Amino acid sequence: MKVTVDDDRCRGHGVCCSLCPEVFDIGDDGYAVVETPDVPVEFEDVVRSAAGMCPERAITVS
Ligand code: SF4
Repeated sequence: MKVTVDDDRCRGHGVCCSLCPEVFDIGDDGYAVVETPDVPVEFEDVVRSAAGMCPERAITVS
């Protein structure tokens, strides 16, 4: 599974980083960055949850 963050939508709330700091981080610009675009299988469920909970719908899983 792969995950991306749409930089144009992200507002830096940090929900994703709180849920899964192994995959998401907040960059120096205050917005989310994906540290691990190829999501390890053990984090797939929580990454899907982060995508569903992102207030800006900025996270896409495929
Ligand atoms: S939860 Fe969504 S808007 Fe908030 S930092 Fe993560 S990707 Fe950005």
